[in-house]
Amino acid sequence: MPIGFAELDRAVVTIRTGGLVVFPTETVYGLGANALDPVAVARIFAAKSRPSTNPLIVHVTDVSQVPPLVESWPSLAEKLAMKFWPGPLTIVVRKSALVPDIVTGGGPTVALRCPNHPVALALLKASGVPIAAPSANRSGELSPTTAEHVRNSLAGKYDVLLNGGPCLGGLESTVVEITPTGVRLLRPGLIGVHALEEVVGKIEHGPTSSSTDAPAHSPGMLSRHYAPRTALECAANPSDANFLVHLYETAGLKVARYECTDSPSEAAAKLYADLHTLDAGAFDRIIATLPPDTEEWRTVRDRLMRASAEE
Ligand code: AMP
Ligand code: MG
Repeated sequence: MPIGFAELDRAVVTIRTGGLVVFPTETVYGLGANALDPVAVARIFAAKSRPSTNPLIVHVTDVSQVPPLVESWPSLAEKLAMKFWPGPLTIVVRKSALVPDIVTGGGPTVALRCPNHPVALALLKASGVPIAAPSANRSGELSPTTAEHVRNSLAGKYDVLLNGGPCLGGLESTVVEITPTGVRLLRPGLIGVHALEEVVGKIEHGPTSSSTDAPAHSPGMLSRHYAPRTALECAANPSDANFLVHLYETAGLKVARYECTDSPSEAAAKLYADLHTLDAGAFDRIIATLPPDTEEWRTVRDRLMRASAEE
């Protein structure tokens, strides 16, 4: 969907004057503000009802915008950015004093990403400032992959919405932290671990940040996140799913089944849109069959399991 000059201009003025702009990326829609303006960034937290300890991703035009934002830019970060930017990889490094504390949840690190979407890049370039943006949904809920999802979740809470059509990736970026010993995976995402390991060698796993003074939680690490409003339960295989569906239907509940398509990238692109649709269907419960426990399915499984976690 093409964006007109006048619309882009309005979005740029909004960013520069401390307002909120919803924009498409290749992962999901983002709710953006000038990352260097703490008052503007505070509006993001208010619009989403997001806990203030949950840090935001800062979006940049390319690596040239990075140096003022960081204390140092390790060579592993540079290697990853060279290979995967623009693209769905978020790199966490130590922040500079220029980045307001509200952006990083009070912690010493900042998450950086260059999105691979013409509208996001045009907005970043024309605004001339880095843009802090989480997904454009209320905190804890499903991320939006269309402009309509955003309107349903955040109506009246933003100044401009740039409608770029459906997001092609459909799931969030992979988040890695550069630690003193290497690269740690903080959140699985559209770029797989094998692809990262080809560039930087073995990836460390595990939720804990190397820096003990980091914020206690980042949202992608919460067990319940990315969740539809309808209760969702995961089944390990189709026969377990049949059993659960039968159980709930016998109890009089209206049950929807969810199965992934055979291709991991197609399943990723459709997952949130499908769950948004099921949410609108007045079901009492969604029973989702988990795809196989393999590397290529890691991110889709992660999101389904978090969608089903207890609050
Ligand atoms: P979202 O709100 O869906 O855009 O998610 C933002 C993601 O950025 C979270 O899931 C975090 O994992 C990640 N993030 C942002 N800043 C940091 C940081 N300083 N340290 C660790 N993770 C971060
Ligand atoms: Mg989110």
